[in-house]
Formats: sequence, structure tokens, C-alpha cells
Amino acid sequence: MQPNYYKHSGKFGALALPLGFGGGLVAAVLLGTIYGQAMARIPVVGKITFVIAALAGAGYGAIAAMLFRAGHGRSTAVGAIAATLASIVGHYMAWVAWLSVVLSRNGAEGPSMLDILVDPGAMFSTISRISEVGAWSVSGSAPSGTVLWLLWGLEALIVLGAGIGLGAGLASGGVYCEQCGTWCKEDEGRVHLNPAPKDAVKQHLEAQDFSVLNQIGPLSQPGPSLRLDLAYCEKCDKTHAVAVNALTPKSDGNGSDVELVLSYLHTSPDVSRWLRSIPKQA
Ligand SMILES: [Zn+2]
Repeated sequence: MQPNYYKHSGKFGALALPLGFGGGLVAAVLLGTIYGQAMARIPVVGKITFVIAALAGAGYGAIAAMLFRAGHGRSTAVGAIAATLASIVGHYMAWVAWLSVVLSRNGAEGPSMLDILVDPGAMFSTISRISEVGAWSVSGSAPSGTVLWLLWGLEALIVLGAGIGLGAGLASGGVYCEQCGTWCKEDEGRVHLNPAPKDAVKQHLEAQDFSVLNQIGPLSQPGPSLRLDLAYCEKCDKTHAVAVNALTPKSDGNGSDVELVLSYLHTSPDVSRWLRSIPKQA
């Protein structure tokens, strides 16, 4: 018997595109404007600058992907494209907003954001001129020329990497009930079991033999464990899935390393109900 893993159908509802692309772009324009204006007012560059860049990028991608999913989008590829577009537009808007603040400094009346927005050629030559003198200081010196372009390139990589990576990840997530057209409820870590050989667990569950979980038994002591995540349709009760991860506590005591044993595998309502009947551990 072929293991019956859950996979997005690739379909999407009528609202998925307007929400993911339209809503995602509007959110990216707003967020990019806030990010660009904030950056223009923080004159010193440090690690925190790159953390903020990653957060901005994550915001562009995550909002577009979540809106796409909210519109019943079950296509990782299309969700990832929405996140990519939002990340690019968000970063472009951040440049526009940054320039509008930088160019109107020292009391001078600068061009409006709209003036900058509609003229990418002038925008690029202005940025080139700024790059010759430097824009802000890093540990006391103002980088210019190649160094500044490298820093700007790094910033763009972080923003786009975070946006596209997180967006694609979110678009690929979740379990959708194609029977009734709803996203399933996900209960991550619903059950914790004792550690067990991963390959054996995978083989048994792929063959729908869940009795092996009884033999492994609920987690009896702190340490490594198997975490079971459940997804089930609360509306029609027809779609049920279970995923398994192996957890190994980190040596510094901060959380656990998580290793995927089994991604969401379709299962029967009976198995799902049985797993949910296991008392939740503290
Ligand atoms: Zn359903």
C-alpha cells in the first residue's frame, strides 16, 4: 500500500489571488514605507539593522502568504510567488521612503514619495550619487562606494531571503479538507511519546499500523521524545492527518532540536479520535 501523505491540491478559491497578490502588495507598500522611513532615521548601522531588515522581509512574505491561504489557496508555488512579489515591492517602497526622508533633510523640501516612486531611473542615479559620499556611519566611519553597495546588497538579500523563505514555508503549511472546503484545525504537540527508532515508527505509520504507538507509550520522563501533531477537519470530520517529529533537548537547556520523522499522513477518524483521547501531558 502506498503511504497516503497529505499534499496541497494546487487549487485555490476565488479570493486567493486578490487577497494574496492585491492584499499582499498593499501590506508590503505600507510596511516598506514604515521600514524605509525608520531606516532613514537610524543613522548608525549595526547588527540590529540586519535584524530589522529580516523582520521587514518576513513581514512582506508572511502577510502575502497568509492572505493567500486565507483565500483558500492550496498551492505552495502560487503562494510563494505572491510572497516573492510582495517582498520585491516592499523593498522597492522601502528605498522610496528612505530617499524621501534623506532628500528632504537639512530643511530642504525634497521630492514626494510619489515623485520618486514613478521615476526609477532618477531614483537609481540619486542612490548612486549618495553611494559616492556615504549614507550613514558604521563604528565611526561612513562607508561609501563598493562597501556601501555591498551592505545594500546584503540588506536586499536578507529582506528577500526572509520574505520568500518564510512566505514559501507558510504557503506549503497546513492541511486542507477538500471534502468540505476548510482548513483543518492543527494541534501541534497534541501527544508526546517516548523516543523510538524513527525508521520503524515511519514504516508502521505509513502502513496505517498505529498500534506501535501503544507499545512506545506516552512520554514517561524528561528527555528526547516523539511529538505527534494532529490536523483534523472540525466541520465535516472527514479529513484527518498526523505528523511525527523527534525532539532532542538542546544541551544548553533552551528548547529542543526538531527532526521530521513523518510529514502529515492521512489517517482514519478513529485513529484521530483515539490520539485526541490520550490525556494531554503537562
Ligand atoms: Zn471537512
